[in-house]
Amino acid sequence: MASCRDEAVALLGRLGVPAAAITGGSLPARSPITGESLAQVVETSPAEAAAAIARAHEAWRLWREVPGPRRGELIRLLGEELRAAKADLGLLVTLEAGKILSEGLGEVQEMIDICDFATGLSRQLYGLTIATERAEHRMMETWHPAGVVGVITAFNFPVAVWAWNAALALVCGDAVVWKPSEKTPLTALAVQALFGRAAVRFGDLPEGLCPLLLGGRVLGEMLVDSPLVPVLSATGSTAMGRAVAPRVAERFGRSILELGGNNAAIVAPSADLDIVLRAVAFAAMGTAGQRCTTLRRLIVHESVADALLPALKRAYASVSIGDPREASTLIGPLIDPAAGAAMDRALEAARAEGGVVTGGEAVEGPGGIYRRPAIAEMPTQSEIVRHETFAPILYVLRYRTVEEAIALHNDVPQGLSSSIFTNDLREAERFLSASGSDCGIANVNIGPSGAEIGGAFGGEKETGGGRESGSDAWKAYMRRATNTINYGRRLPLAQGVSFDVG
Ligand code: NAD
Repeated sequence: MASCRDEAVALLGRLGVPAAAITGGSLPARSPITGESLAQVVETSPAEAAAAIARAHEAWRLWREVPGPRRGELIRLLGEELRAAKADLGLLVTLEAGKILSEGLGEVQEMIDICDFATGLSRQLYGLTIATERAEHRMMETWHPAGVVGVITAFNFPVAVWAWNAALALVCGDAVVWKPSEKTPLTALAVQALFGRAAVRFGDLPEGLCPLLLGGRVLGEMLVDSPLVPVLSATGSTAMGRAVAPRVAERFGRSILELGGNNAAIVAPSADLDIVLRAVAFAAMGTAGQRCTTLRRLIVHESVADALLPALKRAYASVSIGDPREASTLIGPLIDPAAGAAMDRALEAARAEGGVVTGGEAVEGPGGIYRRPAIAEMPTQSEIVRHETFAPILYVLRYRTVEEAIALHNDVPQGLSSSIFTNDLREAERFLSASGSDCGIANVNIGPSGAEIGGAFGGEKETGGGRESGSDAWKAYMRRATNTINYGRRLPLAQGVSFDVG
């Protein structure tokens, strides 16, 4: 295999990233595959960031006047650029975030899908016409661009999460200022270059509409605190959301929070165990357990546990772990040494809390941090089980009644994604009902990860309550105005109030 650095430099060149942006800077870009340095990225200074936010605000004032379908054309062109660059950008995601190539490509496909969705949406930003109680009046709602949308993203979906936000926000008439994870600056630069190509083809895009701020938390905090940023979309850990949310609220900004998950699946007695096995393998081990929707808790009926667990352990023992560029690899590296240490600590805690752990050992790889995925059979839903460890650990709990399973399922602080595997209609509907799963995503007979862009994505409780991507998530990027129009010659007041003067 070529060195990660050589491959990354060649890809960045093809994708149009200027060499000056990745040479001699103070922000190191590393590949988790080998741990080697890929580039030294030039960081955005706080003064440059402040100027970029101000310019984006000015650009928004022009962009909001551009008709929605014309704004959609920009996103259609972006989708074309992404289609043309899919192979290169997908491989760059693999090099910088460590996910297997098929998932790197899948992440770019997700960007393309949301561009298609947003292009159509650009002709559908409609409000309601509402019956009014007054004669010769009409009441309606209109949706207006909100302003500058700040987008803070996490390392594990280094480009798709930007696209979920930016594709919608741009067709909604907003400007978008992006602060990607400091662990994945190269993919952000590549996306910025592709966006630049789309902008050139578009023709008359306001200057500075969509800037990139490269660096750490301080730049994120500038978006959090800026009065020029009415909407702040932040994806990352619950700790980050806990710091960000009150600061945005203090200035009456709107935040869209996409934070940590602790996703579970219930396996009922009637479940098709072959489907369960395949779904659990992908949801729990895919992306080396580094998805917000990764399956972390398996709640298995006691009558099927002894049939399922040995098969699951065999699958866990058989997966190939190593360089994610190899076609045969299913599990790539953890993002950095700290992630490996967090996994080791969690497994230690699981043992101390009475768990029986299979797997989890360090695996020799091409230089990065590689771990065999672990299964931890737990006597109870103890403290470590209730905590999100961003690594491939699957806690297994047993249950007797479906009520007990749903109670266990909901008894964690997070509320992102969830599944039940059952062929019993009553159980499935109970799980999807108001007294079932308390998550933002609830599935039947598929795993909790790997969502499509057409539905609204996000979760409840400590996951933050935000919704992005499909359905009507676009409304969070716009300002709603209710309009009442009097086309008569009288002035009737609402609720029959009379106020006659003169
Ligand atoms: P992280 O919280 O360490 O960092 C995320 C981003 O927030 C980075 O860009 C970082 O610079 C920025 N940041 C951190 N503190 C900040 C602050 N006080 N103010 C402003 N910006 C700040 O998360 P990570 O390790 O990159 O990602 C993993 C976490 O993200 C996991 O908890 C995972 O579940 C979560 N995640 C959630 C979703 C979702 O949609 N719910 C999607 C992907 C990842």
